[in-house]
Amino acid sequence: LYDRDGWIWLDGEWLPWREAQTHLLTHTLHYGMGCFEGVRAYAGAKGTHLFRVAEHTRRLLDSAHALDMPVGFDESTLIEVQRQCLVRNELSNAYLKPTIFFGAEGLGLRAKGLSVHVMVAAWDLGEYISTEATRIGLRALTSSWARHHVNISLCRAKTNGHYVNSILALNTAIKAGYDETIMLDPEGYVAEASAANVFLLRDGVLHTPEVTSCLQGITRDSVIHLAREVLGIEVRERRITRDELYTADEAFVTGTAAEILPLRELDGRHIGGRSGAPAPGDAIAEDSVTARLQRLYRQVTRGESVVGPNEYAKWLTPV
Ligand code: PMP
Repeated sequence: LYDRDGWIWLDGEWLPWREAQTHLLTHTLHYGMGCFEGVRAYAGAKGTHLFRVAEHTRRLLDSAHALDMPVGFDESTLIEVQRQCLVRNELSNAYLKPTIFFGAEGLGLRAKGLSVHVMVAAWDLGEYISTEATRIGLRALTSSWARHHVNISLCRAKTNGHYVNSILALNTAIKAGYDETIMLDPEGYVAEASAANVFLLRDGVLHTPEVTSCLQGITRDSVIHLAREVLGIEVRERRITRDELYTADEAFVTGTAAEILPLRELDGRHIGGRSGAPAPGDAIAEDSVTARLQRLYRQVTRGESVVGPNEYAKWLTPV
């Protein structure tokens, strides 16, 4: 990732990629106090667009505010920087990572007068998810690591340090031969996957955990809108137990990077197996709710019009 051409924005300046360095005593490197976003841009029928960049930028600034890190740039400036980052780097299908971090003016938990820096980098993502993962889906293991608790960390903030917990959980699952992990909250209710929200379908109704332990995902929000408004499917946000996932008709995970991926197996139970769904290694049915939402999400992110009461084009910012 170090040695390549390109431009990275830092605090109002464009730095050549190779020169975009920070000091070893950068506070955030030592304590994980910082926040970031993952934003996507897509090449669509009507040119390149950022997807829901306003919502991502708002969540970034909300995260910084919750962490008590004062940021010297406003929402519209940061949106424009993200747009410029794509133009300067000649990107279309891209992933952007705006990040807010403390400088190196001091170390220790009591450090005072720390500068707050903002950076934006972007790189080509192309077709990030394989067609196979999209159609066949994921095998997951329930994690022995609990997800964050509202009284231990700021669950709404996308904080760098939170990801130690996600990586521990994901690596345990990967080492055991699985693709993904499902994390429970400290009380044992389903929270989310390592970096994606989770939904289940049962008897035609979608259910997803309420936003307490899990991140308030923007893809989660897009899926709730599309399910309710375009497919006319009821969506309930509530506490969910792991056996509800085992016995769901369908389940899937959602995230900016993952988009919508079917969850096919949890702890060795084939999800949907009871209702004669395709076998674990087979593609999901074209008329499943998961596949219908995948198609809709693809259309909306690529700027194709979708009939519904909402104006989904407002989610796109032209580059
Ligand atoms: N949960 C976690 C822990 C994540 O890191 C992400 C990815 N940002 C998500 C959920 C999904 O959020 P979004 O749809 O906003 O990308």
